[in-house]
Amino acid sequence: MDVDFNQLIALQRLDAKLKHLSAFLDTIPAKVAAIDAKIEKSRQDLAEAKDRLTQNQKTRRDLESQVKDIKAHISKYKVQLNDVKTNKEYTALLHEIDGAKSKVDAFEESIISEMLVADDIEREIRAAAETCRKAEDVFQKDKDALLARKGRLEARRDRVRAERDAQQAAVSAEVLALYQAISHKRAGVVLSPVKGDFCSLCHMRIRPQVLEELMAMSSIILCEACGRILLWTKKPA
Ligand SMILES: [Zn+2]
Repeated sequence: MDVDFNQLIALQRLDAKLKHLSAFLDTIPAKVAAIDAKIEKSRQDLAEAKDRLTQNQKTRRDLESQVKDIKAHISKYKVQLNDVKTNKEYTALLHEIDGAKSKVDAFEESIISEMLVADDIEREIRAAAETCRKAEDVFQKDKDALLARKGRLEARRDRVRAERDAQQAAVSAEVLALYQAISHKRAGVVLSPVKGDFCSLCHMRIRPQVLEELMAMSSIILCEACGRILLWTKKPA
């Protein structure tokens, strides 16, 4: 198998670049989703605070309406006081009025605590709105920058891919088939420079006879352990 090692080195370099670019580009959708999630979270916090205020206002309206009803009963009892005939009836009615007044007191206390809670919620809403505004601003900028970078990297990947395809076309079909088979098995790392008398990638010692063949750099020799194409990097003596 006659071979131009420089072509294979160039091909490996371009493949490595492509792999690196693609790996980074693959991470971008998750990064964009994470930014969107942060924006969404701050919007949800604001919406939840607003919901709580709505709920609080509803509770207050309910309490106020109950107070109004009880006060109406009290007025009715007071009118009835004028018409009672016996002491027993009179005492019973006073007892009803006292009970109703205690209820009013309790409800009015609840209304006051709900109003205090409302103050807290309104403060929370102002803070959440501010956080949300900042989040939208900052995260949107992050997202825009990321998407702009994605565009640049995609363009670069397309250029590298075209260069890689051109480089592939320069390699003989037989060598290319071997290169691609190894690439598939070895996660894209096809060439292994020899260091000392070891395969630098799997650290297997290379037999002296094989080393001699390697030094000639005239044919492809595969590492007997990892199956990669061995590269003799030192100039032959
Ligand atoms: Zn090896």
